[in-house]
Amino acid sequence: MLQATGNNQLSVMKKQPLAIITGGGSGIGLAIATTFVANDIKTIIIGRDEKKLRASQKKLGKLCEIIVCDLTQLHQIPSLIQQIYSTHGHIDILVNNAGINLKKDFADVTDDDFANIMLTNVQSVFTISRETVKKMLLKKKGVILNISSMASQYGIPKVIAYSASKGAIEAMTRAMAVEISPFGIRINCIAPGFIATDMSAKALENDPERKNKVLSRTPIGHLGEPEDIGTTALFLASEAAKYITGIILPVDGGNSIGF
Ligand code: NAP
Repeated sequence: MLQATGNNQLSVMKKQPLAIITGGGSGIGLAIATTFVANDIKTIIIGRDEKKLRASQKKLGKLCEIIVCDLTQLHQIPSLIQQIYSTHGHIDILVNNAGINLKKDFADVTDDDFANIMLTNVQSVFTISRETVKKMLLKKKGVILNISSMASQYGIPKVIAYSASKGAIEAMTRAMAVEISPFGIRINCIAPGFIATDMSAKALENDPERKNKVLSRTPIGHLGEPEDIGTTALFLASEAAKYITGIILPVDGGNSIGF
């Protein structure tokens, strides 16, 4: 695993860690993968779009592997994790980053819309975490990072299902931490503010009023970069964070405390 060195760098100790990043082919997930690979962590990125994953793998180099999987196909997850564990012999870090958003007026959100967001953003996170924890328990070691959102810090209009899903992620982070941390597995959650990715572009670019509102309550005054989440994930995955579990860490330019 990683540990802090005297010069404040995070260096790899002993065997090379293995990380799985869901949704690692783009945006925040790709930035986390980039930071992990740069710190000598073997990184498996998972997504549905093989072309996107292959393009990202090309950028990331030989420490990156790709697995094409639609995580809403829950029945595939146990064999996916078993396959990774059988091949590598250990899973050290799981980053539950894959997620989808839906911006729609409350009254227009269908039951299927709501269920679809919950399936991707909550249920699949539970299933892949459960299967990974089974493997981590064998080693009494591991780190799980979840990704929530400002939508679970305060009310945001037109994203009802997304808000419910991210609230669930924060509650699950705490529940998992109290139950599993006694066995050597740390579980934490990053709550990104508004980070410049395709997802935030879809939500903000054609809605100047919303974008102005975001920026006006962000003391640092601009959107975050995916790398801001990458470096935070590296810290929380490292031995430098060995006494940290169950936290929700906003990385948001102050958005969650902004006036
Ligand atoms: P993004 O670029 O759209 O990335 C989402 C990723 O999730 C994609 O790589 C996508 O890959 C993957 N994904 C979605 N559904 C999947 C499924 N069923 N199975 C496997 N992979 C799936 O968005 P992002 O902004 O980087 O978001 C990453 C995470 O950060 C999300 O959980 C999001 O809620 C959270 N977040 C983002 C912001 C922001 O401002 N950007 C703020 C707060 C929280 P494929 O298309 O290949 O399936």
